[in-house]
Amino acid sequence: MRKYVIMGVQGSGKGTQAAMLCDDLDLVHINVGGIFRWHVKNHTKLGAQVRRLVAAGELVGDDLVEDVVRERLQQHDWNYGFVIDGFPRNRRQAEFFLESYDIDGVINLDLPDAEVERRVLARRLCSGCGLDYNLIAHRPAVPDVCDVCGSPLVTRPDDNPEALAVRLREYHDKTKPVIEIFERKEFVATIDATRGVEEIHAEICARFGLVPADDQAAR
Ligand SMILES: [Zn+2]
Repeated sequence: MRKYVIMGVQGSGKGTQAAMLCDDLDLVHINVGGIFRWHVKNHTKLGAQVRRLVAAGELVGDDLVEDVVRERLQQHDWNYGFVIDGFPRNRRQAEFFLESYDIDGVINLDLPDAEVERRVLARRLCSGCGLDYNLIAHRPAVPDVCDVCGSPLVTRPDDNPEALAVRLREYHDKTKPVIEIFERKEFVATIDATRGVEEIHAEICARFGLVPADDQAAR
């Protein structure tokens, strides 16, 4: 049984790394933001609660987030363990989590703000079909035009330097105390996330002494 927390600012490749680790080790990827989005989309009671809070300009409280995490983990579909993503987001959530679960390690994907900015500001979105582009990694064949449907590419309204600076500041303010709490109790592996996807994955495995399933099969 392996239980990991993965942390990283947007653009750090957190979702990709969580998915690779889960794939390798048969772990379940628990994406807390995704669970909330699912509830909103499917109009559950919880989704209605979240909608009301958001409409009133309020944040989803710690109690609600903790209930969602507890309920998700009680499903016990994670025979070999899990990688949790998007939680804990502050000191109180971290303390709740450590009281309730034994965590084997925390993966902290570290990306300098300047690199986050470079990656996030390179994102584009097709105004027609919604396909994601990235001017660094996934350029359209014709500039500013969707390869699939020919519609113009646009920038998301909140992908601008000012909004990103606010998000980065919030991320650092909230995450720092969480990392400090984990460092007291658990093994935190801070990983340089400026490198390629495979390299980052290999370092995560090395730092936690993990042998990917493919390698096990090859022995
Ligand atoms: Zn398109």
